[in-house]
Amino acid sequence: MTPGQFREEGKKLIDWIADYYEQVENYPVLSTVQPGDIRKQLPPQAPEKGEPFDAMMSDVNKLIMPGITHWQSPNFFAYFQSNTSGPSILGELLSAGLGVQGMLWATSPACTELESQVMDWLVDMMGLPAHFKTTASGGGVIQDTASNAALAALLAARERKTNFSSNLTGESSRLVAYVSTQTHSSVEKGIKVMGIGTNRLRKIEVDEHFAMRPEALENQLKKDMKNGFIPFFVCGTVGTTSSNAVDPLREIGEICKKYDVWFHVDAAMSGTAAVCPEFRSHFDGLQLADSYAFNPHKWMFTNFDCDCFYVADKAILIKTLSILPEYLKNEATEKGAVIDYRDWHVQLGRRFRALKLWFVIRHYGAEGLRYHIGEHIRLARELASWIKTSADFELLNEPPFNLVCFRHKASDEFNKKLMDRLNKSGRIYLTHTVLNGTFWLRMSIGQTQTKQEHVARAWELIREMAKQ
Ligand code: PLP
Repeated sequence: MTPGQFREEGKKLIDWIADYYEQVENYPVLSTVQPGDIRKQLPPQAPEKGEPFDAMMSDVNKLIMPGITHWQSPNFFAYFQSNTSGPSILGELLSAGLGVQGMLWATSPACTELESQVMDWLVDMMGLPAHFKTTASGGGVIQDTASNAALAALLAARERKTNFSSNLTGESSRLVAYVSTQTHSSVEKGIKVMGIGTNRLRKIEVDEHFAMRPEALENQLKKDMKNGFIPFFVCGTVGTTSSNAVDPLREIGEICKKYDVWFHVDAAMSGTAAVCPEFRSHFDGLQLADSYAFNPHKWMFTNFDCDCFYVADKAILIKTLSILPEYLKNEATEKGAVIDYRDWHVQLGRRFRALKLWFVIRHYGAEGLRYHIGEHIRLARELASWIKTSADFELLNEPPFNLVCFRHKASDEFNKKLMDRLNKSGRIYLTHTVLNGTFWLRMSIGQTQTKQEHVARAWELIREMAKQ
């Protein structure tokens, strides 16, 4: 494709995307295709001869669009947000256009330096601990996902606990990690990847609000130590996936300090709420964390993938993950004058993800981000108030952020059927969880274009369908 052809097709594609956003509400939110429907329409072999771009776009319209679940619809309330925005899409496009591989500072200085600066901006914008800044003892790096951020935290925690010997000699069979019964499964996956058996992952019980019980954590730590185990990692969560529960970070952090255990805080889904000062009390105790992750690719209008991962002491993370083969050696690295983000995560190669986050922050400004996030939480609270006054539905709890968990007072079967019908209608999409053996509907409010009218219409539809 020549630059001239690229310009022509690119303009058409931008128009196509703009049209899509104008019409996204008209699509059934949840794709209605059956397993195999898309694949059977695709040719069994790759084309021998190159094809015109028009032919590809025609197939996008005909074959691909029916198989899309519209995460960007303002009527998407399922799972969690994966919201995006114009500036983010353009940042992603620019990153692809530049085609930069930013594994080392030297392989594109702007890629590294913009990332460090944007990560430091966020520390101030979100009231995060100042020592998370790259200019202080800690530092921030953009990871692909919260799952890989948790893995990096687990690896650093293991190295610190074993005086930097586990990379050399392999895993100690005495190390144990701690999560709550509500912690996201990504930590369990990290434990498996590290070769620590899941029989050494303790799932600590939660209270009536689904938050970790600190006294149960401390009891388990003591019991394990008495039995010769070595606690090395605890994960606390701000905004659990099932119900948005908030673990008591301060109490957990103090326990971790007392027993010299790495404290990771996962706020993948709800961390963006910290842009609004009025919700920062939920993050009290984050000062005690050794590492922290939240996902702009969920709720901060930045398209997938973009996870912000911070550590309190970057030297530990770097020492854990550093390798310097001959072919990567360069003057800037050897002088120690720069950050080489290759040492901050598992993979070597890395994209220029900071561009889209930079565009988003500059487009909205801190003020704009506060407004939109505050609006989503206000809408969630409004929905919660409607549920509370309804005779037929019950609310799980007051939503701390933007996730509302509720159910019809009838049976679990009824609620499952209701969810199924709502989703098949194509008018909204919501998902469920099971808490203490009971089935709950979850409505996550945070899509970029979701407004009061969408939430009000969704609630009306839910009530109407329940009556039917
Ligand atoms: N942690 C929490 C609390 C989550 O809700 C999720 C995703 O739902 C994750 C971690 C995993 O996020 P990622 O897809 O970025 O690995």
